[in-house]
Amino acid sequence: MTAEIISGTALRATMLAELHDEVTTIRSRHGCVPGLVTILVGSNPASVSYVSLKIKTANSLGFHEIQDNQPEDITEAELLALIDRYNNDPSIHGILVQLPLPRHIDATKVLYAISPEKDVDGFHPVNLGRLLIGGKAVNFLPCTPAGIQELIVRSGTETSGAEVVVVGRSNIVGKPIAVMMGQKGKGGNATVTLVHTGSRELGAHCRRADILIVAAGVPGLVKPDWIKPGATVIDVGVNRVGFNEETSKPILSGDVDFEAARQVAGKITPVPGGVGPMTITMLMKNTIRSAWLHLRP
Ligand code: NAD
Repeated sequence: MTAEIISGTALRATMLAELHDEVTTIRSRHGCVPGLVTILVGSNPASVSYVSLKIKTANSLGFHEIQDNQPEDITEAELLALIDRYNNDPSIHGILVQLPLPRHIDATKVLYAISPEKDVDGFHPVNLGRLLIGGKAVNFLPCTPAGIQELIVRSGTETSGAEVVVVGRSNIVGKPIAVMMGQKGKGGNATVTLVHTGSRELGAHCRRADILIVAAGVPGLVKPDWIKPGATVIDVGVNRVGFNEETSKPILSGDVDFEAARQVAGKITPVPGGVGPMTITMLMKNTIRSAWLHLRP
């Protein structure tokens, strides 16, 4: 039997409809329109394309959206001053600085300058600290891990008591999702193992997983015999493995050997169309959450 496909594209559509309703509610009840600013420095084609997708999604939800494009030679001080202005702008609930930034700008300094109350990417150390504490302390979950958890929960996969193995320990995916899956509460309460380049017997760890989350950036890293029969497999990897001359688009592949893995897994996310569509959706969700939080006295 082949695995059920967990479609991020389908879940995105469902969640955007839910978020659209939430925007209507916050606007009609409180006269509040969620505000998001996207700051793009320079014109890196991949960044331009990511930002335009974020803007399009924000507009479709009826957000107050500011697209702030800055020249490549903006100074670090000017960029920090711009962020400070948006930190103090009450019509803005979320500030997004598109990475990468030019080399003359310290990206860490810039990301840390965003107010933790408007850090809808969830990258600020204050928000990562809150994530570690869990429960009511959580402000904003980082978007990709939040999307992964949403895919797991809404696919009907039981997390409580499950063995979860996370491959990869990046600050934006591996570490936060490992913490989230181990927290007490819905979508968590799992027993988590985090494996990485320093781990021995990667396959043996993966084979124990009821839920296998792979974020390594290595195409085909996970072989079918690393997957426990019936497991839920979440493939976060996005790897360019070629170029399609006909469509003029890159050919993408995940970190899991998808065709072979779907013969063993119970549920699996495809690449593209799995985790990818969820990241921007969760950014929108965080911006709406920020708007609600800003309404608090
Ligand atoms: P990263 O490069 O910062 O970290 C990769 C991690 O994987 C490291 O911790 C490393 O220890 C581990 N790793 C690498 N090779 C390994 C191996 N052979 N064995 C065991 N562990 C190994 O990665 P990242 O930023 O977390 O991204 C990982 C992948 O996820 C990339 O392909 C990236 O494009 C993709 N990604 C997708 C989304 C999305 O929205 N779909 C978002 C973020 C990242």
